[in-house]
Amino acid sequence: MNPDLEKLLDLQDKDLTLLDVDQRLDQVLAEEQALDEAVRSAEASIGVAQRSVAESIRRRIEVEGRVETYRKLQEGRRKRIEVSRPGKDTAGLMAELDLSRQVLAREESDWFRAQEAVQAQETRVAEAETAVEALKAEQVAPREALAARRAELEAERAVALAARDASAAAVAKPLRSRYERLRGSRAPRAVVALAGDACGACYTAVPMNRRAQMRMSGVVDACEGCGVMLYFVDAS
Ligand SMILES: [Zn+2]
Repeated sequence: MNPDLEKLLDLQDKDLTLLDVDQRLDQVLAEEQALDEAVRSAEASIGVAQRSVAESIRRRIEVEGRVETYRKLQEGRRKRIEVSRPGKDTAGLMAELDLSRQVLAREESDWFRAQEAVQAQETRVAEAETAVEALKAEQVAPREALAARRAELEAERAVALAARDASAAAVAKPLRSRYERLRGSRAPRAVVALAGDACGACYTAVPMNRRAQMRMSGVVDACEGCGVMLYFVDAS
């Protein structure tokens, strides 16, 4: 085999190894992100529950204000009944007092409902907080495993990268830049063997004279269909 081609194929092998490490590393990073995302979403539900508590407290205070106002009005009516002369005035005031007693009772039951809502929502906040803590505890072991895996892969990547750089340095500059350009814009495999009379990547037919040249000189030639660097490999 042509030594230039041999070096180029060696570089491509090293690059494919590096790519494989990168893909496994990406997978680990994605798994770590999924764990982070799960915590964020659980924490968000604490926020939602907290906002409901605040809203219910605001409603309860509103009702408290109304209850207070009605109580004062009732108080005023009682005092007026005390000082009024028996007769028509008193009867009217008594009727008013009865009516507003019902209103007050309704407001008070509203207050109880608001108070119950506050308590129920505070329970939900506590539950959401417990859920976040439980989730974080559950994630401790998987996170440790992922961190260990990531450290391994980072070390593996450093080795693969050094090997790749060493191989790249051995490839003649023009060939190497052609290869780098192709790899940048295309599939990871930039150097492809002929498949019979066609390109091994896109299966565009390659004219016989060019195939013969590749076979005899061992040089690489660009595919007219997809642009990859083609080379001849003896099938026997
Ligand atoms: Zn092709």
